[in-house]
Amino acid sequence: MATVIAENVQQVQHWIAGSSVASKSGRSGKVMDPAMGSVIGNVEFANVDEVDAAVAAAKAAFAEWRATPLSRRAETMFKLRSLVDTHRNDIAQILSRENGKTLADALGEVARGLENVEFACGIPNLLKGGYSEQSSRGVDVYQIRQPLGVVAGITPFNFPAMVPLWMLANAIACGNTFVLKPSEKVPGASVFLAQLVKQAGVPDGVFNIVQGDKVAVDRLLEHPDVRAISFVGSTPVARAIYETGTRNGKRVQALGGAKNHMLVLPDADINMAADAAVSAGYGAAGERCMAISVVLAVGAVADPLIDAIRTRIAKIKVGPGNDASSEMGPLITREHRDRVAGYIESAQAEGATVTVDGRKDAAMKTDGYFLGPSLLDNVKPGMRCYTDEIFGPVLSVVRVNTYAEAVKMINDNPYGNGTAIFTQNGGAARQFQFDVEVGMVGVNVPIPVPVSYYSFGGWKSSLFGDLHMYGPEGVQFYTRGKVVTSRWPDPGSSKVDLGFPQVR
Ligand code: NAD
Repeated sequence: MATVIAENVQQVQHWIAGSSVASKSGRSGKVMDPAMGSVIGNVEFANVDEVDAAVAAAKAAFAEWRATPLSRRAETMFKLRSLVDTHRNDIAQILSRENGKTLADALGEVARGLENVEFACGIPNLLKGGYSEQSSRGVDVYQIRQPLGVVAGITPFNFPAMVPLWMLANAIACGNTFVLKPSEKVPGASVFLAQLVKQAGVPDGVFNIVQGDKVAVDRLLEHPDVRAISFVGSTPVARAIYETGTRNGKRVQALGGAKNHMLVLPDADINMAADAAVSAGYGAAGERCMAISVVLAVGAVADPLIDAIRTRIAKIKVGPGNDASSEMGPLITREHRDRVAGYIESAQAEGATVTVDGRKDAAMKTDGYFLGPSLLDNVKPGMRCYTDEIFGPVLSVVRVNTYAEAVKMINDNPYGNGTAIFTQNGGAARQFQFDVEVGMVGVNVPIPVPVSYYSFGGWKSSLFGDLHMYGPEGVQFYTRGKVVTSRWPDPGSSKVDLGFPQVR
């Protein structure tokens, strides 16, 4: 099929030292409208020299920025908060156009990103250290946290505004300078954000963008002036980024993929559980790292729950994100859509029951990368649809006999991003929270993305590194501690003492 090229195709460039910069690499990628299957932009890919120029701009801006008073840095975050708030709709339009998500969902993404700017407004308080007076006679000890220098962020296609905001707000507020490498599939929002960051009064060079692919990422990973890397994306890439980055002496937090299970106990409210499974399974066409992809139905709850889910699926309106009546948009690329559809086929071949087949959705007949919501029953561990991260609107139901069987399945899974339990029994929910080996847990909450004053992160193959993203752990990630031991004695009392210092 010939690819349609829309009018007003946008050229997306780097952002270095406060201005757009054209690439000389000669390499670029197409930005697509997933709802139409048409080209809407062209994004220039950085070469090594261009990454070096962005890092050099960030390095040059660091000394002055880290010396800028805390309240001034906080002031820029307050202004950025106000600007993002004012431009919510503009940002959401870009997100919806390039990613395909519905406008309502895109507005939700902006709101969750904005929370992180709000959190960073409190940076003077967040960077308060500790002080111990009279640790020894006339000696005081205090701890401070200082920025790292140039830090980089590499972000995925599914949250083109929120994930950059998770990173950049705290990184910059802490006094670092930042180089962002957005997903080449959805680069538009990053440039819009860069303009807002500039308008907010953040000095040129503090925030920079290199557009591109693996070439840019590889250079960031080896660049001697990049002190830390925050990554969000798929698990194989996250693992590689963590291994290479740490080998090169960098601090790395690399968030990976997921396979999130929702456990439904026999006492759960069926309608509430079905609402939650459908919302969390098919929202954003399943392209959320916190999407529910497996429902573990315990005992007799399975049949009524599946019926309730099926009834709700029948009402979901699949269509372009900019159509207000659409509830679920397209997937990100045609290849990804076909890959996701392939899991329905493989599930059938491996003995699962295809209860709802999204390949039959009317939207499949358009040029957009649509796939209707699909429901698989009688799924078993070992089937491809269970073991792989599908990242699409395919919900698998695994029937289990006991709570213990279900928890074992979750804990045996290599991923550990999010999970949820649906029950009316507080004791069972508390036990689940205690037992489950997953970083983010929902109790009757299907998408437990922590608010910005907690931190976001999975366990096992969903996060490589020691610190979770944003919130208090984000501040810790973007700063390093320094402990100062100080005394102001009368010089007359000074003498040589070769003994090891101890409390007197
Ligand atoms: P991806 O791993 O393909 O790409 C992420 C980023 O890495 C992009 O900027 C991309 O350009 C870059 N990249 C891709 N391949 C690379 C390579 N070989 N070397 C260096 N850089 C490379 O991920 P995606 O498809 O953009 O996003 C979807 C994935 O992200 C899913 O697996 C999803 O679960 C995960 N995700 C995780 C979280 C989380 O918080 N854990 C949040 C959002 C998305």
